[in-house]
Amino acid sequence: MASTDFGLHPFIDADGDKLREECGVFGVIGARDAAAVTALGLHALQHRGQEAAGITSFDGTEFFTRRGMGHVAENFSTGEAMAELPGEMAAGHVRYSTTGGSGLRNVQPLYADLASGGFAIAHNGNISNAMHLRADLVRKGAIFQSTSDTEVIIHLVATSRYPTMLDRFVDALRLVEGAYSLIVMTNDGMVACRDPLGIRPLVMGRIDEGDCKGATVFASETVALDIVGADFVREVEPGELIEVDFDGSVRSHRPFGTPASRPCIFEHVYFSRPDSISGGRSVYSVRKEIGAQLAIESPADADIVIPVPDSGVPAAIGYAQESGVPFELGIIRSHYVGRTFIQPSDGQRTTSVARKHNANRALVEGKRIVLIDDSIVRGTTSLKIVQMMREAGATEVHMRIASPPTMHSCFYGVDTPERSKLLAARMDVEAMREFIQADSLAFVSIDGLYRAVGEDGRKSKCPKYCDACFTGDYPTRLTDLSERETPQLPLLGEKAA
Ligand code: SF4
Repeated sequence: MASTDFGLHPFIDADGDKLREECGVFGVIGARDAAAVTALGLHALQHRGQEAAGITSFDGTEFFTRRGMGHVAENFSTGEAMAELPGEMAAGHVRYSTTGGSGLRNVQPLYADLASGGFAIAHNGNISNAMHLRADLVRKGAIFQSTSDTEVIIHLVATSRYPTMLDRFVDALRLVEGAYSLIVMTNDGMVACRDPLGIRPLVMGRIDEGDCKGATVFASETVALDIVGADFVREVEPGELIEVDFDGSVRSHRPFGTPASRPCIFEHVYFSRPDSISGGRSVYSVRKEIGAQLAIESPADADIVIPVPDSGVPAAIGYAQESGVPFELGIIRSHYVGRTFIQPSDGQRTTSVARKHNANRALVEGKRIVLIDDSIVRGTTSLKIVQMMREAGATEVHMRIASPPTMHSCFYGVDTPERSKLLAARMDVEAMREFIQADSLAFVSIDGLYRAVGEDGRKSKCPKYCDACFTGDYPTRLTDLSERETPQLPLLGEKAA
């Protein structure tokens, strides 16, 4: 990440005090060096998962897989690595995960030799009834290789009685609840699909140049299309399944009808890169508009507006432009804080904030400031940053947050602490203000957030987005889970053995 990339959130959340997208997926078919294209695409999606990366390729006869812990560049930057992945079709995955835990066996794409041929799958999202499905499959004799929820889909496809691979896949997905954007490779080509509510994003592009002429690309975000030189074609629609053959023919299927979609509104607030286009809107513009809504709803008598870098920057620009209070860089973020510094205890987390952020003392001293951040999760980062501003001489610190209070856990592929650890689940806004030691604290309203994405407000009977972490209104059943727990799959396959 370059030092001038304001608006991007840091690759590493060293504080455990941000919600984290768990995965990014990328796939290409019809490109001569498909794995190299995939590595480049995954690099653009690195912010969606830093724990591990994997690529599977197909050369027309065989499937090849390389997976590793760490960043894409650590695993896929050498000629030797790419030589292990020949073929014109490849799919890749970056992950940060709680479901299934860490470990190479959970790194995707997952692959299986089925009776009908090879089956590789890369998944962004979370199957919220995976535990229930897994227990059922284990009772019937399935032996799981990983603890990933995604492996459930492979077993459901393997045991389906439908004759074609596509029908088996659809049959499997009918049993699955939750969020999934999937890229699947078989001996016949690539299939990309999105769950019926379209909770997690997936876009389609096309490369029509050089060695990649006629290649079809799928990716979690449009930034991955940009980096590989692909033109944006369209979003994979919620509930749509797109099949692409090696001759380049593309077929769209809608096996789940056309239910009302509920894409994740947090993609606009934080997860997606600001240079992505999501739901037809520039993520950067939406973030600025959230800041403008905040300024309208919660003005502050202040001298300067300061973003908490980097993810608070677009909202702070919007707040400053709407309010007329000057935008200034009052906090400078180190871009060299790495994973080495992540420590599990609350005390050490607080220390890592200081390693990552430093006050621009010459600017802040003697000023009344408005601090803009994208969210408050546990509150430890906000507390430390408010303290840092006071120590640098700020006379007043007014905190403004570019999302409503995060009160509920996410079960759709975003890493959230259990509900009891969410500050907003334990305290009202005044108690939160006291906790972070700010002079005032305000969050954008849920209607303000909807206005920023172009709606009139939130329609409670038919909300256009998933906003469950703010409202508790989960758009699917949560068969396996209670709101209080973060999903953790037991090793049912191992217990049964
Ligand atoms: Fe996104 Fe929140 Fe819904 Fe999870 S619960 S999908 S983070 S809006």
